Amino acid sequence: MKELNDEQVIYAFDKDGEPVLTVESGETVRIRTKDCFGNQIQGPDDVIDEINWDLINPATGPIYVDGAVAGGTLKVEINDIELDDKAVCCTGKDEGVFGDRLDAWSTHLCRREGDKIVWDDKIEIPLKPMIGVIGVAPAGEPVNCGTPGSHGGNMDNTAITKGATLYFPVSIDGALFGCGDMHAVMGDGEISVSGAEIPGYVTATLTALPELSLDNPIIVNDTHIGTIASAETLDEAADRAVHDMIDLVAARTGVAADELVMLFSLVGDVQICQMVDPEKTVRFMVPRYVLDAYDFSLE
Ligand code: CA
Ligand code: ZN
Repeated sequence: MKELNDEQVIYAFDKDGEPVLTVESGETVRIRTKDCFGNQIQGPDDVIDEINWDLINPATGPIYVDGAVAGGTLKVEINDIELDDKAVCCTGKDEGVFGDRLDAWSTHLCRREGDKIVWDDKIEIPLKPMIGVIGVAPAGEPVNCGTPGSHGGNMDNTAITKGATLYFPVSIDGALFGCGDMHAVMGDGEISVSGAEIPGYVTATLTALPELSLDNPIIVNDTHIGTIASAETLDEAADRAVHDMIDLVAARTGVAADELVMLFSLVGDVQICQMVDPEKTVRFMVPRYVLDAYDFSLE
């Protein structure tokens, strides 16, 4: 298995980025990732106001995937997530949902002990390891790693866990994959503007699917298939995710759109990924048993 350290990071998903690693389609890579602060907050003496904001939201990469072509798809299977043992949480003035009532940055450092995050001497939180930033290079202008979009990026989606598979629309040959910004745990919405930010390792299998064409990222796990969309408002993002799902399933099963809308109204869940980044992200999750009944398949 190939390994990638965190010495080579990007701060934007960029079609002109210089690959730091090339893999064959179907290869698995173990990727070291920094936290969203670029590992600059190590202890109580590291003040968030004084960190270098040019080093925020690093993603490790980019990785060139042989066989990935513009107009096709990159399949990313998340085989494993390993976390370090120190996590940082933050909020601040004009950040997150409550930033209108704050006048300074705050940080809260916590330890990971086994499968728990120790918040204080009263509260231990079960781990829910997830990847905040993951994606490929978009067509056109580079997109900074703090902003999500149809290329992926800072989606802060709690469904991006070990065992999940992501599908990204590829805009440039090689795809130029990158990931970072892991969270030991985060609630849907990410209301403070951070999860339990933590460095670690992502192990992922990267497969080129040149025949599959998508508009936005898709997530598949043991129980659900989800469309992921980012837009200026949650309303627009939800709208796009639902439309993407109906279009995708109607095209592959031949079931009429109005029938699917009624069915998915019963079984599909619109879930907020994050509501605090420059674009907001929503996922629309439909259970696999429903799609299996129609012999739906993505690949
Ligand atoms: Ca994030
Ligand atoms: Zn984060």
